[in-house]
Amino acid sequence: MRVVIVGSGIAGLTAAIALRKVGCEVVVYERASELREVGAGISLWANALRALDYLGAGAAVREVALPLTRSEMRARDGFKVQVSFPAGYFEQKLGISPFVAMTHRADLVAALAAQLPAGVARYGFECVGVEQDDRGGTVRFKNGHADTADLVVGADGLNSAVRTALFGPQPPRYAGYTCWRGIGPRPAAVEPGYVGEWWGRGRRFGITTLPGDRVYWFAVLNAPPGGTADDERGAVAEAFHGFAPPVPELIATTPPERVLRNDILDRKPARPWHVGRVGLIGDAAHPTTPNFGQGGCMAIEDAVALARHVRDAKTPAAVWEGFTAERFKRTAAVVNESWRFGKVAQLEGRATCWLRDTFFGITFPLVGKRALPKHAAFDVGPL
Ligand SMILES: Cc1cc2nc3c(=O)[nH]c(=O)nc-3n(C[C@H](O)[C@H](O)[C@H](O)COP(=O)(O)OP(=O)(O)OC[C@H]3O[C@@H](n4cnc5c(N)ncnc54)[C@H](O)[C@@H]3O)c2cc1C
Repeated sequence: MRVVIVGSGIAGLTAAIALRKVGCEVVVYERASELREVGAGISLWANALRALDYLGAGAAVREVALPLTRSEMRARDGFKVQVSFPAGYFEQKLGISPFVAMTHRADLVAALAAQLPAGVARYGFECVGVEQDDRGGTVRFKNGHADTADLVVGADGLNSAVRTALFGPQPPRYAGYTCWRGIGPRPAAVEPGYVGEWWGRGRRFGITTLPGDRVYWFAVLNAPPGGTADDERGAVAEAFHGFAPPVPELIATTPPERVLRNDILDRKPARPWHVGRVGLIGDAAHPTTPNFGQGGCMAIEDAVALARHVRDAKTPAAVWEGFTAERFKRTAAVVNESWRFGKVAQLEGRATCWLRDTFFGITFPLVGKRALPKHAAFDVGPL
């Protein structure tokens, strides 16, 4: 089967690796003019690492990642530790190590791209339309190029052009909070392997250590959509004024050009994800709020599942029917739970936050050991 994939993000590259493993001829078309440094840090949980192992790419990704050694939840702007778990507990429970691997997105994407022979991924091709008939699906690009294949995979992210070609414009939904991300030097007070999420009222701060003595941080604030500032580093420093050390230091030592800001968006889970031989994977199909750090992980699971259906199904349409039947329930559960978790994490009333923090202070140490690895324990199964 010949397959055209639109988008060379986590979903598109992993799908290319997986589809080549089941004998497909694959071409990936990417809008960006080259493979370049994108985004900030990303956490890959055990479910994604296991899926990458099924594809033979797990070792390459682990090489550019730092394993989690301790995770912590804090309340009251980071001044009160609610719970602290050593990672070893989860590794023993799940039988996979590490439980979470933290890496830079650019390193992850480069490690995935290195699994493909030269020429499979082509840069500078922006998809502007898709058509199909009995003989194939044709993807059209802004530069005038067109390519026809048996199967077309839309892996072009949240604002997928393939989705628009299939179903018309469908704006994503705004979660009610905006997020700054940055990468700076690791302060002495943060040990390598640490991951923490520190909650306040209507705002929370995340700290994730990366290889190379760096820290990836994120700062989430309730805000109207579409906000921007000339000085985003100044804006986040002001919004998180009063948070426990080393938050002010982390923001201040991050180069201003390494501070990104995105409103947090997802889509309410809905089918279909395909029409005929053209379908969607990753964020193009099921974007989620990042509260569980599972969007990229699920995109990796998608790749394994899609390749299995390509190997086993009789027609291109049957590939997508089988894929959607397998993947919808799993991804919808994560999207819905992440949405609800985000609402609780972003509560801002004084009394409701006090109740929330008191409740979690008591329950986290008891139920957190079961709740935390829930999504990471998922096994998409071998190819
Ligand atoms: C703040 C934040 C933190 C996150 N943290 C985590 C985390 O810790 N762990 C995790 O697993 N997930 C995390 N996620 C989610 C994760 O980033 C996404 O789920 C993941 O990137 C989805 O991969 P994708 O390949 O489907 O889409 P994308 O990463 O968006 O890639 C899509 C690709 O398609 C290309 N493209 C777009 N349009 C076109 C077009 N018209 N033609 C050709 N190419 C096109 C883009 O340039 C891009 O390369 C986070 C998300 C956010 C916003």
